[in-house]
Amino acid sequence: MRKIISLIAAVCILALSVQSFSARGIMSRKIDFKNPDFIKGMDISSIVALEKSGVKFYDDNGEEDIFKILADHGVNYIRVRVWNDPFDSDGNGYGGGNNDIGKACEIGRRAAKYGMKLLVDFHYSDFWADPGKQKAPKAWEGFSIDKKVEAVKSFTYNSLIEIKNAGADIGMVQVGNETTLGICGENEWENMARLFNAGASAVRELDEKILVAIHFTNPEKTDFIKSLADFLGDYKVDYDVFATSYYPYWHGSLDNLTEVLNYVSVKYGKYAMVAETSYANTLDDTDGHDNTVRVGSNDSGENLLWEFSVQGQADAVSAVMNAVNNVEDGRGLGVFYWEGAWITVGDTSGKDGGEFDETLENNKSLWESFGSGWAASYASEYDPDDAGKWYGGSAVDNQAFFDSKGKALPSLDVFKMVSEDVLRGDTNADGRLNIRDATVIEKYLVKLKDLDSRSLRAADFNGDGRVSVEDATVIQKTLAEVVSG
Ligand code: CA
Repeated sequence: MRKIISLIAAVCILALSVQSFSARGIMSRKIDFKNPDFIKGMDISSIVALEKSGVKFYDDNGEEDIFKILADHGVNYIRVRVWNDPFDSDGNGYGGGNNDIGKACEIGRRAAKYGMKLLVDFHYSDFWADPGKQKAPKAWEGFSIDKKVEAVKSFTYNSLIEIKNAGADIGMVQVGNETTLGICGENEWENMARLFNAGASAVRELDEKILVAIHFTNPEKTDFIKSLADFLGDYKVDYDVFATSYYPYWHGSLDNLTEVLNYVSVKYGKYAMVAETSYANTLDDTDGHDNTVRVGSNDSGENLLWEFSVQGQADAVSAVMNAVNNVEDGRGLGVFYWEGAWITVGDTSGKDGGEFDETLENNKSLWESFGSGWAASYASEYDPDDAGKWYGGSAVDNQAFFDSKGKALPSLDVFKMVSEDVLRGDTNADGRLNIRDATVIEKYLVKLKDLDSRSLRAADFNGDGRVSVEDATVIQKTLAEVVSG
């Protein structure tokens, strides 16, 4: 028996790197999370608008509530953006999910139903807030900084009460979105700090247990993002979580990400996390609106370490989680995947000519009516230079965990697999190692049997990152040794 244990231990040590498979399942290694509550989160803010546009979601058993599908696959936290008033004076939505407080209530309630907490991401704007734009809401136009401080506090408090009363389990609140260069129309640090603290004080008043996060971008500008943490310290901003976006095509290496997060966490005693990340599983588009990552755009660079495949997408997620987990003392809090379900409202793939045009026209009509694209034409009054010009559909349908028909991709399994103990060799998942496991591998290799993600990982008995005939052979040898004593 000791021989068996040492053999198993030896192959486990070898099992550190993992290769791609084009099978039904994906391979992913377990991460030893230092923080037992590590967040494996997902932002699906556009989901209500998508469902109104007729989009449905499916797992292996058929159509299902997407919140249940995510929870079943190991997602434990949902993130939702909140805009103050993303509608024009006629009540037409700006798009991007038309994410007002009502949407956050519905999303938070449905997340809680399946045991998932909610991160409420306040933009303090009527539409997208990012490093390039931090426009105050229409209703706050012309407000002095003192009035904005009051408005941020009361809006935050009242919104959270509403979302909580709807049944959401609010675990974290983001005071501002990608506030790298400003927030709510303010870009002086003194004013920014006052607005951060106004949001934080509303959260504290409601519930001391809810974490307050401040969210920046561009960790690749190492000294710059560290200086943002120093500003938060110098201006005595009250917060718990230092969050950054991390898109591998823009934001540097994973080692650098860990270093930046570690700096903040060690120096200021804060949690650190990735509030947004994503990775393309294909370079193809399915809705007629160009994707952020496509041929010739964001598709190359030294930090794109994974192929644009379903397996590559899973590998990227696992690697980003690992980089956050590498933050010292368990202060790496977690990772949120950005808009992992923003799929097409009408599949244009394989279509051309009149057929393509017809599908695209129908998509445009859905995006305008329900706000299921990144922006609708109605946003032009508020954001004339960007949304007003480029409004349209999803730029991330190729970064979702669902195919163009709404079926969950095997890459979604990664959220579960990073926490899953799998008995090595137990390919048929009966909890024991026996000869049937070797048989299953042999059948898989001659394509007589499909394996899911869990079984694929178990099947890699010798831990070389592949499933091969050697795995079956080593299982047989191991069992023979057990029998001969
Ligand atoms: Ca698209």
